[in-house]
Amino acid sequence: TITTSTAGAKAPTPKPWIEGIHAYVPGKSKGKDGRPLIKLSANENPLGTSPAALAAKAQAPALYPDPDSAALRAELGERHGIDPARIVMGTGSDELLNLIAQGYAGPGDEVIYVRYGFSVYDIAARRCGATPVVAPDRDYGTDVDALLALVSERTRLVFVANPNNPTGSYLPAGEIARLHAGLPSDVVLVLDQAYAEYLAPEDEDGSLALAAAHENVLVTRTFSKIFGLAGERIGWATGAPGLVATLNRIRGPFNVPSTGQAMALAALADPAFVEASRQHNLEQRARFVEKLEALGNHGLRPLPSQANFVLVLFEGVLTAEAAFEGLADRGYIVRWLPGQGLPQALRITIGTSEDMDAIAAALREMAEDAK
Ligand code: PMP
Repeated sequence: TITTSTAGAKAPTPKPWIEGIHAYVPGKSKGKDGRPLIKLSANENPLGTSPAALAAKAQAPALYPDPDSAALRAELGERHGIDPARIVMGTGSDELLNLIAQGYAGPGDEVIYVRYGFSVYDIAARRCGATPVVAPDRDYGTDVDALLALVSERTRLVFVANPNNPTGSYLPAGEIARLHAGLPSDVVLVLDQAYAEYLAPEDEDGSLALAAAHENVLVTRTFSKIFGLAGERIGWATGAPGLVATLNRIRGPFNVPSTGQAMALAALADPAFVEASRQHNLEQRARFVEKLEALGNHGLRPLPSQANFVLVLFEGVLTAEAAFEGLADRGYIVRWLPGQGLPQALRITIGTSEDMDAIAAALREMAEDAK
């Protein structure tokens, strides 16, 4: 039996800045009676994973992984025209975002990101004692002027996801360049490209070129989304040698498992799977958005998205909460985001065409019944 501590004994207390953090809340994946739901809440790839990557998993040794992920960094460097010395791997890009904050911000420093941004930026800033500074959006998109207006002497980091999660909004290359040009050279600009591959051409927004040319830009990318390797927790960052050296100093020595390294290498060697995933997403997203736009008279408003999900606003009688429950009753779990200031919205990942048709039909039915 475990005895509780003696009365009057002092309990350990976390640092005050840790107490202000809300733990990340993932989407549900089980229905009311424990039934499995079809999960369209985590922006995963509905086509699964490249068969070549699955085959590579079985071959990976179970000993300590290569601490430098050398083969994988070499391949990424080759593909993107980057010196592998300027690439660092992470346990998902989540880990890299946290390491960047830990390396460059602390108590008294400010970290800027946009409202309706990725929730990890807030956690990353707070866990190292820095102060989050939240810029207003422009119709749910990233507003470069609003971000720049908040820069102060205390600003150490700016996080921008492009495309953005959960809104799906996108800044073209000119806006990203303008943001960088407006920042002091000692502020690190983090361009989070978790969804970049869903836009057809490589480096569409010029982020990789900025990271190659400047001392204060880091780009993060992930194998979790278009490559379908979310379970392997594998992401990467690239930037100036000084920035990469900081992340290498503070990352865990074996932060990327052998299976993840092997699967990511195999996934890179299967561009057909990535292209099929991109095409599937483009087609199904367009079909889905068109169906939702037809429900505009019921107050449904899909925001334009360049990612593998759509944020749908519910501005009529049918509320986002009721739609969330109704979809769950029909076996679909999507993301309702009241904790991120979006109680009026659902973020729906693009799944199979059958799933998207079923969801659109269910939303129509619910919207018509709600009148
Ligand atoms: N950035 C953004 C904008 C994301 O949406 C996500 C995944 N939710 C991540 C980073 C992190 O992905 P991972 O840790 O799986 O690489």
